[in-house]
Amino acid sequence: MLPVVALVGRPNVGKSTLYNALTRSRDALVADMPGVTRDRHYGVCRLGPRPFVVVDTGGLSGSDEGIEGLTATQVRLAIEEAHLLVFVVDARDGVLPQDATILTELRRSGKPVIVVVNKTDGVDEPTALGEFASFGIAETLPMSAAHNRGVDVLVERALTHL
Ligand code: GDP
Ligand code: MG
Repeated sequence: MLPVVALVGRPNVGKSTLYNALTRSRDALVADMPGVTRDRHYGVCRLGPRPFVVVDTGGLSGSDEGIEGLTATQVRLAIEEAHLLVFVVDARDGVLPQDATILTELRRSGKPVIVVVNKTDGVDEPTALGEFASFGIAETLPMSAAHNRGVDVLVERALTHL
């Protein structure tokens, strides 16, 4: 059984784009519409010396109502089966209240968490990373999933937990 890494975070932060970069596939649905990935989606990352499974999830919106609630349940199941949680946030949006809610959920799991600050293309990287220092997560990595920047470092860091 390969180890499992779950990508979690609000809708539209770039989880599916990162999933594609990690699995080098085009089958994850990437769209401008927030919350398009309603179900979990599995692929294998073979970019490092050891393969691992990547789970793309729908966004955790912080609401438990209706379809959003269904997605949140899917995310919780993904968290349960994961060995490592990659919390994807958006450098352009900065810290939003929903991020804090999700972080609480991730911490509750007791699993290792890596914060990926995505969309750092075109923004000042130290400033963007500094915003998320308030999370208190030691491993906070810059990323531009759309430009495939930061992906190899994430794989390297992820493998230290797997
Ligand atoms: P998800 O809802 O978290 O799965 O987010 P998606 O992967 O669907 O991406 C949402 C939007 O952000 C899309 O328009 C992507 O093209 C865009 N996006 C994703 N990664 C990056 C990035 O590194 N930089 C920029 N500028 N845009 C990105
Ligand atoms: Mg998605």
